Amino acid sequence: MQFPFDNRYASLDETFFERIRPTPVRKPELIAFNDALAGELGISASDAAASAAAVFSGNTLPEGAEPLAMAYAGHQFGHFNPQLGDGRAILLGEIAGPDGARYDIHLKGSGRTRFSRNGDGRAALGPVLREYLVSEAMHRLGVPTTRALAAVTTGEPVARERLLPGGVITRVAASFVRVGTFQYFAAREDEAALRQLADYVIDKCYPQLDEHNHRYAALLAAVVERQAVLIAHWMQLGFIHGVMNTDNMSIAGETIDYGPCAFMDAYRHDQVFSSIDRQGRYAYSNQPAMGLWNLTRLAETLLPLLDDHPQTAVNIAQEVLEGFVARYESAWLAGMREKCGLTACDGVESSEDKALIEGLLEVMAENRADFTLTFYHLSRLPGQPSEQDEPLLVLFQNPGPMATWLQQWRARLTQETQDDAARQTGMQTVNPVYIPRNHQIEAAIRAAEDRDDFSVFHELHAVLQQPCVQQEGKEQYALAPEPEEVVEYTFCGT
Ligand code: AMP
Ligand code: MG
Repeated sequence: MQFPFDNRYASLDETFFERIRPTPVRKPELIAFNDALAGELGISASDAAASAAAVFSGNTLPEGAEPLAMAYAGHQFGHFNPQLGDGRAILLGEIAGPDGARYDIHLKGSGRTRFSRNGDGRAALGPVLREYLVSEAMHRLGVPTTRALAAVTTGEPVARERLLPGGVITRVAASFVRVGTFQYFAAREDEAALRQLADYVIDKCYPQLDEHNHRYAALLAAVVERQAVLIAHWMQLGFIHGVMNTDNMSIAGETIDYGPCAFMDAYRHDQVFSSIDRQGRYAYSNQPAMGLWNLTRLAETLLPLLDDHPQTAVNIAQEVLEGFVARYESAWLAGMREKCGLTACDGVESSEDKALIEGLLEVMAENRADFTLTFYHLSRLPGQPSEQDEPLLVLFQNPGPMATWLQQWRARLTQETQDDAARQTGMQTVNPVYIPRNHQIEAAIRAAEDRDDFSVFHELHAVLQQPCVQQEGKEQYALAPEPEEVVEYTFCGT
């Protein structure tokens, strides 16, 4: 197993991390290895499963690895914790991919570090499988995300509410630097470290800003841009991150730290799944506002770099932050128009399209209609009323308001220049048939945990590789859960 390592984080000041090797596990076995991703990253893996298991459990260090646990702080549910850090994750190193970009290779569940506090540094198998499935599905759905390179079982139990099998997931990211990493140094008033960190991030993730006259303001603006687009993506798929703490917000604009995240089945604006989010801080509809809240915390850390005069620095930060809402709304509207097949935007007031789309979401919410199936069936409808309306209308407890909405939608379609077939094809590329539904993930975890059967996990993963393509014999994966299958709560599982 050979990685094209090009480590730079490890050459920053020692305050940025703890150098530490993964703690070996008893009996590692490979569950999954992402060949395609390894190929894209220039990782050569001609080896046998046993040696892959040794590497991805942390038992064997690949040549060139410089393992370390990153230091970071973070606001958790609004409360600042000045010292979090990788308590159960280890950065093996950075690689230079064939595409010229650099990536972080991270083991999660690989043993205790200086930042573990009372934790055991381990991960249970369930959350490992969950992260593997959801992050790879997100990638196939076109959402910026960390990727899953490998998953292993450890042969060791971990103690949670009960004893559970342990696992390790290997994740790949454009960077594992978080908003909380900046907060760590801001809390220590260490301006030199902040500058070093910002320069490292620009070099790694935003090299186009290197020559910019106001490089730190430009960095803030670039992160704002990526987060606005990212969160708009989540909203368009009914995805709820679940723990948008500042330590779980990536500086590179990728979805990171999959914990109690979930895709909605029945639509509601204020849906929450996470068992620990009792106030609904990270409810579905709150995600854009929480994104801006986190970005505001990032901006605060950058103030000393923005200008020598505190008030000027605040003004610069405010101006950048003010761009978030407009950018989020335009990304949201553009994506929702695509989902609804509204591509002819000349001569159409965007406020009218926005009202039309919000009207749909309102009818969906009133009727607890399935989010994914609503858009899936919508993308199959002709421009004229048809018997094909039926499978859509049956998703609504009271189909009357949805039938009325379809009339409004069809009136709007008369302004479209493309024909039905072209519109349907376009809609079907952005409205998936398959998403990683909670109850399917649960079934995959149950089979693995209870019966040592990973076939359910592998089949679900295979289906999710082509989320917008109907696959023969896989119809059950497109279905909403039966009442007794509905998952009400999700857990961090840490
Ligand atoms: P999370 O809720 O996963 O974002 O984690 C928040 C913080 O708790 C991070 O610093 C984690 O590294 C740490 N943490 C979570 N689970 C464990 C664990 N089992 N052992 C040690 N640290 C952990
Ligand atoms: Mg985290």
